[in-house]
Amino acid sequence: MADRVPGRVGVMGGTFDPPHLAHLVAGAAARAVLGLDRVIFVPAGDPWRKRWRPVTPPAYRLRLVEAALEPLGSWAEASALEVERPGPSYTWETLAELERENPGEERWVVLGADALADLPDWHRPREIVARARIAVVERPGLEEGGTGAVQGAVPGIEARLDRVPMPALRVSASDLRRRVRGGLPTSPLLPQRVRRLVDELGLYR
Ligand code: ATP
Ligand code: MG
Repeated sequence: MADRVPGRVGVMGGTFDPPHLAHLVAGAAARAVLGLDRVIFVPAGDPWRKRWRPVTPPAYRLRLVEAALEPLGSWAEASALEVERPGPSYTWETLAELERENPGEERWVVLGADALADLPDWHRPREIVARARIAVVERPGLEEGGTGAVQGAVPGIEARLDRVPMPALRVSASDLRRRVRGGLPTSPLLPQRVRRLVDELGLYR
């Protein structure tokens, strides 16, 4: 990897099964509002919080993310860190790896309000908050978790939170998978190049 000036970096994790417009808008909003140099989209290799449902193989989801990011420009990067790391995908471990690669960078974990509400149940949430600030975007249509429970469960998180406004997009990967299966239209919430790859790989049928 080329030498980089230490910068401000967003880390957007997810299952990305498949990646959709709201993921891209969230990343772009975080970049604009926080003045980030780049946003790294990190598909989870083993999204252990989703073991209750079948998940598309990680290598395919990484390809879908790469396809989704293609039109965005060099600020948006796909990372294979979690796809290549064995074992359950833990965000604190990803942050530690990024820190080793690029010491001195300032990092933000970018996530939706639903994911923030879930943060206390992630692995080592205190370490996540110690290693990164948290950029949270609103998520319409899902239960508003609020930050009350999170504040109780992860001490000091309020001081590490940055709220990032973004245009409300009522879209989820779950709904898009259903739409593909049901033969319903998915554009433009599922970017066309992602849809093409979904069909090529025969996913969600
Ligand atoms: P699924 O329905 O399979 O859970 P998803 O649409 O929630 O998929 P994820 O990969 O689970 O997508 O989410 C990755 C990140 O993107 C999470 O932080 C989530 O909160 C955020 N996110 C997903 N959809 C939206 C949305 N419509 N608005 C804001 N944030 C979103
Ligand atoms: Mg989700």
